[in-house]
Amino acid sequence: MEKTGVPHVIFLPFPAQGHIKPMLNLAEILSHAGFQATFVNTEHNHHRILHNTDIHDRFPKFQFKSIPDGFPSDHLRSDLLYIRDFFRSCRVAFKPALRELLISLKEEKEPCQPPTCMIADGIMCFAIDVAEEFEISTIFFRTFSAHCLWTYFHLSKLIEEGEVPFQDENLDKPILCIPGLENVLRRRDLPGFCRTENADDPILQFFIKETSALTRGTGLILNTMNEIEGLMITRLGSFFNKVYAIGPLHALKSRINENSSSSSTSSDGILWKEDKKCLKWLDSKPSRSVLYVSFGSLINLSGEQILELLHGLVNSEKSFLWVIRPDLIVGDATIGDILKEQETGRLERGLIVSWAPQEEVLLHPAIGGFLTHSGWNSTLESIVAGVPMICWPQMADQQVNSRCVSEIWKIGFDMKDTCDRSIVEKLVRELMDNNREEMMESANKLARLARDSIEEDGSSCINLEKLIQDIKSMSSSLTQVHISG
Ligand code: UDP
Repeated sequence: MEKTGVPHVIFLPFPAQGHIKPMLNLAEILSHAGFQATFVNTEHNHHRILHNTDIHDRFPKFQFKSIPDGFPSDHLRSDLLYIRDFFRSCRVAFKPALRELLISLKEEKEPCQPPTCMIADGIMCFAIDVAEEFEISTIFFRTFSAHCLWTYFHLSKLIEEGEVPFQDENLDKPILCIPGLENVLRRRDLPGFCRTENADDPILQFFIKETSALTRGTGLILNTMNEIEGLMITRLGSFFNKVYAIGPLHALKSRINENSSSSSTSSDGILWKEDKKCLKWLDSKPSRSVLYVSFGSLINLSGEQILELLHGLVNSEKSFLWVIRPDLIVGDATIGDILKEQETGRLERGLIVSWAPQEEVLLHPAIGGFLTHSGWNSTLESIVAGVPMICWPQMADQQVNSRCVSEIWKIGFDMKDTCDRSIVEKLVRELMDNNREEMMESANKLARLARDSIEEDGSSCINLEKLIQDIKSMSSSLTQVHISG
């Protein structure tokens, strides 16, 4: 029997862990609201997810679809380079594949309704051209912080004012032309791609175009909350009809799952298999005594950088849990080779894993600090867990996020643009010993605000309800068109 009026949402994430994971959380939340969900991955990522996550168990109500990314099957798709190539290729290969998918979804009668709307990643704006052909509305989901998105909206102005591009000189120069951030940002805090030779740089231009194309959507979803980024969210409201700030999505999803006693776990490897043994190791450690170290899913580091970090961590004499992905280190050196260069050749207080259940790790009572690359998901997960950070940003939004952490929210230290064992050691001691109480106080305050936002009367819950109602009204107007047609 056909279910009339049930919204059917197509979710289209950018093909990277930090984009797929919050999109899955959002899809899960909307599926709890009774919506039908079609989740679209690249074929390559779909196979990785099938391998690492029991998706049919976790997302029984979802329909998963996959489309080719246009790269040959033997392409390594090894992270950063692949991401850059994908920016260039997505319009060529991905767009027609998305069109084919929409044709097949439109023709499919059972078990789904025709699609009501598409929620597309905010760096996949080509999707709106395809959706418009099928008269489907597009809501964009930008997975960055509001501070960072506001900065991206000023990239053209930064070029006009001669602030961008720049290279590694005069990095402490204040940036004065972004309203609301005049006393916050310096050159070094601008997105990594601003450090380039000329304003025609394809990555810089890509982000200028994608950011302005966002305003074509019927609304903008942000994984953040008024309680923490309210001023920036209000400013962004001047560009959009509707802004739905509904974060932190991972915590909101967990709360909804708890209330509905769903069996879904809080975190999943998604593209990697999680090594849960580290949770047992953490169980044996005293409260707030371990530093968690992880640089997310994309960045690559040289053997020299790893060696400096390793020495700094060992010299700090703190216990640490360090995620070293198999593809983290560029070149031929492995972590085993690098360990040999260290005095004892082994770790006495450290544990290395290739992928951790990060959300659970950060919530573990043994964790006292997080040395992070300041990806937005990692930052949010740390905020919710009340864990202060040492930020070591490398690219994109990470430079802005780390500045917010250290300068605005005061829940961590910013180590950007340095990689020196003595600085690592000093900051780890500052975070875990000398400034511990002060940092914990601000971290606890922010964690409370984040948790308030997802309470039933919190801003994110209220905004989520608005999003749900707006999608439902798209669905009922579609039903009316079908009936009158
Ligand atoms: N993550 C994880 N285990 C790890 C490392 C990372 O589950 O060992 C997850 C982390 O919880 C976060 C995501 O991967 O949700 C990384 O996203 P983020 O935006 O922080 O960084 P990106 O990978 O996009 O650079």
